[in-house]
Amino acid sequence: MSTETQNIIIQKIAKSKISEVDFSNLAFGSVFTDHMYVCDFKDGEWQTPTIKPYGPISIDPSAKVFHYGQAVFEGMKAYKAEDDSIWMFRPEENQKRINFSANRLQMPSFPKEMFFDGLETLLKLDRDWIQKGEGNSMYIRPFVIATESGVSASPSKEYKFMFILSPAQSYFKGGGSDVKVLFADKYSRSANGGVGAAKAAGNYAGQFYPTHLAQEQGYQQVVWTDANTHEFLEEAGVMNVFFRVGDTLLTAPTSDRILDGITRKSIIQVAQDMGISVEVRNVRVSEIVDAAKNGTLLEMFGAGTAAVINPIAGFGCKGEDYTLPKLENSYAMLLRKRITDIQTNKAEDKHGWRYKVKE
Ligand SMILES: *Cc1c(COP(=O)(O)O)cnc(C)c1O
Repeated sequence: MSTETQNIIIQKIAKSKISEVDFSNLAFGSVFTDHMYVCDFKDGEWQTPTIKPYGPISIDPSAKVFHYGQAVFEGMKAYKAEDDSIWMFRPEENQKRINFSANRLQMPSFPKEMFFDGLETLLKLDRDWIQKGEGNSMYIRPFVIATESGVSASPSKEYKFMFILSPAQSYFKGGGSDVKVLFADKYSRSANGGVGAAKAAGNYAGQFYPTHLAQEQGYQQVVWTDANTHEFLEEAGVMNVFFRVGDTLLTAPTSDRILDGITRKSIIQVAQDMGISVEVRNVRVSEIVDAAKNGTLLEMFGAGTAAVINPIAGFGCKGEDYTLPKLENSYAMLLRKRITDIQTNKAEDKHGWRYKVKE
């Protein structure tokens, strides 16, 4: 059955799959809701979008996304409150950033009104899939791919913008972290003038091999350093990275090599609100190694939407391993709690970060 509401064609699934899902045991990003949103770009404009049952899409094998990697994405979350209202966290930032990423890859912007209209309609249609309660959220994956057929190496003239939704649980188990990271001294994630600041699919592809090599040495992730000198710490895997030296939090400024993470900037703001001193500046590998040696390096953690904050237990650098102390009241735990409390309406939202989905 097909209905048209406002500007979206909606084809509802015949029978929901929700009864097949074990919400108490979800592997991150592996289960998807009943519906997905698709909008095609052709003849120079975005066409009427469709919400339809989640499932495979058909694309010509010569489509440019397969050959030249024109693909960008976002990661965001929605939460359900006790009164069944649906909320997001700073979604305008994701909306702006997907266009920034798309434009960097010579792909068209997607209009803000269509982004919110499409996403909110989809969230409401699949609202039963958004679970209430501690640690539960709906992970939202917006993405854009180049669909024009033909293997000539030029930007596509046709694209697909899509939203897919995946119910998620906090995969932060509490307690201590056992994540060990390796400081990169050979491979790089991004370079000056490159695409490191864009959420481009290819940035992830390029990380898999060096991360695999690090894993063979017993580390879970790579902390990327600047491509020129490998002397400055930039990102932890696909997260922004913070260091606590004494009582000060350090993180690198964003640049065209470092993704401007929404969790990162929220942490900086919340830390300042809590009276924690934060220095946004280039962080040298040598100062972190020195701080680890003299015992002033108290914490390291990654920051990103999926896990909010991912504590790091130790790192390897130039053949040496360093272990961080286990703290009772870590900044990581404090900041993580404050941010998730704001996201789920348990703490005052003084910066207006919560966004209510319109009924
Ligand atoms: C998505 C991403 C982040 C985190 O950004 P958030 O907006 O906090 O989710 C950090 N670094 C990289 C490379 C990323 O792709």
